[in-house]
Amino acid sequence: MNCEQDNINTYCDDAEAMFSVGRRFLYGNGLEKDLNKAYSLLSKAAAIGHTQAGQLLKTIDVGNLTADNDTVTCSNDEDQALSPDLQAILNHNKQFVATEAYRKYVTSKYPDKKIAIVTCMDTRLIKLLPAALGLKNGDVKIIRNAGGTITNPFDSAMRSLLIAIYELGVKEVMIIGHTGCGVQGMDSQEMLRLMKERGIDDEHISLMKHCGIDLDSWLHGFDETDIAIQETVDLVKHHPLMPKDIIVRGYIMDSTTGELTVINDVK
Ligand SMILES: [Zn+2]
Repeated sequence: MNCEQDNINTYCDDAEAMFSVGRRFLYGNGLEKDLNKAYSLLSKAAAIGHTQAGQLLKTIDVGNLTADNDTVTCSNDEDQALSPDLQAILNHNKQFVATEAYRKYVTSKYPDKKIAIVTCMDTRLIKLLPAALGLKNGDVKIIRNAGGTITNPFDSAMRSLLIAIYELGVKEVMIIGHTGCGVQGMDSQEMLRLMKERGIDDEHISLMKHCGIDLDSWLHGFDETDIAIQETVDLVKHHPLMPKDIIVRGYIMDSTTGELTVINDVK
């Protein structure tokens, strides 16, 4: 590994840094122009969500890449051999694009129904929730996290909602919890125990607590789903940056039948 590679390894978790170095390789700005390295770095940055890297990637004619595999590798790439499941996903993706199966999903970024849904990442809801609500691609914004609740007025779910409202025309918000949610009854002490079991040392955990991070509260789940959903409804409704005309309601979905129950104010 040369010095340049060494430096690049320090960027491997940082999309912005990979984008920046990738762009320099692309245009020969301060680095010797190298299309393969540019392509490699921009691909990695795009893969972890860097939009500009994805756009720049499209400007590279892959026909001009050389076949000597002179790409930039991250030191942790070798440790992360693809699982059969992930390999199958990547293979399916190639097939999906090659057969133009995407055509029936083409839509715009603006939701046709002007609705945003905040819900849980639970795997039972992946297809059940849109099917049970009769939603097709392009209809609504769906923001998923563990539990489908917003516990901090400035977390990423709240940010997503504000973007959906101000930038994308959303006028109504549905907060949808579900039966048998894994976050219900989640115990922060148990999670900390599992972390230690996986090699996270006490010192790191103590350091975070020392720095004022309340891990117990952050990792704690909720006791009653309907109360947690109602608290999220209240938090969204009364958020200082929320327009007053936005309608916010809470629901619980049955994780098997998809039946939706409206939460009346439980407080
Ligand atoms: Zn859940």
